[in-house]
Amino acid sequence: MLCGRKTCSMIITVTPNADLERLRRDFAARGLWTVRHDDGRGATVFFVLPHSASSDPEELRQLPGVATVTIAASEHPLIDDQRGIVEVAGVTFGSGHPAVWLAGPCSVESEESIDAVARRLAQVGVRFLRGGAFKPRTSPYAFQGNGEPALGWLAAAARRHDLRVVTEALSEATVEVVAGHADLIQVGSRNMHNFALLRGVARARKPVLLKRGMAATIEEWLAAGEYLRLHGAPAVLFCERGIRSFDAMTRNLLDLSAVALLTHQYRLPVIVDPSHAAGRRDLVAPLTRAALAAGACGVMIETHDDPGRALSDGPQALTATDFERLIDTLGPLPSLP
Ligand code: PEP
Ligand code: MN
Repeated sequence: MLCGRKTCSMIITVTPNADLERLRRDFAARGLWTVRHDDGRGATVFFVLPHSASSDPEELRQLPGVATVTIAASEHPLIDDQRGIVEVAGVTFGSGHPAVWLAGPCSVESEESIDAVARRLAQVGVRFLRGGAFKPRTSPYAFQGNGEPALGWLAAAARRHDLRVVTEALSEATVEVVAGHADLIQVGSRNMHNFALLRGVARARKPVLLKRGMAATIEEWLAAGEYLRLHGAPAVLFCERGIRSFDAMTRNLLDLSAVALLTHQYRLPVIVDPSHAAGRRDLVAPLTRAALAAGACGVMIETHDDPGRALSDGPQALTATDFERLIDTLGPLPSLP
C-alpha cells in the first residue's frame, strides 16, 4: 500500500476531536512508527510504516480516538500460508524442530572429492550435501562448474552417505536435469529476480531454497517466493546470504534483522549462509551462532578439504576439521520456538 511516497502496512483514521498527540504516543508505545497526514479539510489519518512492530488491529480499534484500521493486503498470500514447518525429503525445518545443517563445497569439483567430503559431513549430523554443478560466477573467465556430470557425482555421494541434495539451477535450460538430482533446488542470489527462472524452477514441483538477492528488499524476496509457490513449488525455504553494503571488510552484510523478522514475526523457515555473507572463514562460527540465536532453522556452510586449491570460494571455506570443531563447540542445535 502506498502512503504518499512511503509504503505502509496500515492506515488508521481518527474520530473528530481525537486527541492526536495522545494517539501518537499510544502508537509509539506499541512500537508503531507512524506518519500523520492532515488532508487540509479537517480529516487526519496515521500511516503505519512497515518497520513497525506487529500489532493487533482489533486492539488498535479500541483506542480512544481511533475510527478505523485498514490493513494492507498481503502481496504474498501463498507464502503466508506456509507458516510453521516445511518438510523436504523427510527432513523437517521450522518450529519445534532442531536446526538443520547443509554443507559441502562451493562447487562439485570431482567424484572423489565430493564423496570424501560427504562421508565426513554425514558423520557429524549434516542432512543436506550442497555443491554447485552450474556456478554463477562474476567473471566469465572463472571456473563455471563441471556441469551435468557433477550432478551425478553429487547425487551418488549423497545417496551413499544418506544425505539429501541441494544444488543450484542456474538457468531454465538446466532446471529439469537439476530437478532430477536435487531434493531441494537452489535459486542463487543473482537469480532471485529472474522471474522466468523462478517459474521454470517452480514447475519442477520440488521444494526450493531461495537465496535473497544481494540488493533485494525483504518484500521483493517474499514476492519471489510467491512466484515459486504460485507456479507449483510445494515449499520455499528462504536463505539469507548477506546483502551488499558499503563496507569491504566483509564480503556482504549478514542481515540478521531479516532473519529475526521472517522467523519470529512471519513464522517462515529461514536458512542462513554465513559463508557467502562474511566471505571469510574466521567469521563463520560466530555468525552461525548469531544466526541460530536469531531464529534460523538451518545453516548452510561451505567446506573444502583443501581450501587453497578450491576452484571457487576457497577463502571462505571451512575444512571438514574446522566444521567438525564448530559442530562440537555448538553442541545440540536449538529447537525453534
Ligand atoms: C553458492 O551457494 O555457491 C552461491 C553461488 O551462492 P549465492 O547465490 O548466495 O552467491
Ligand atoms: Mn560459493
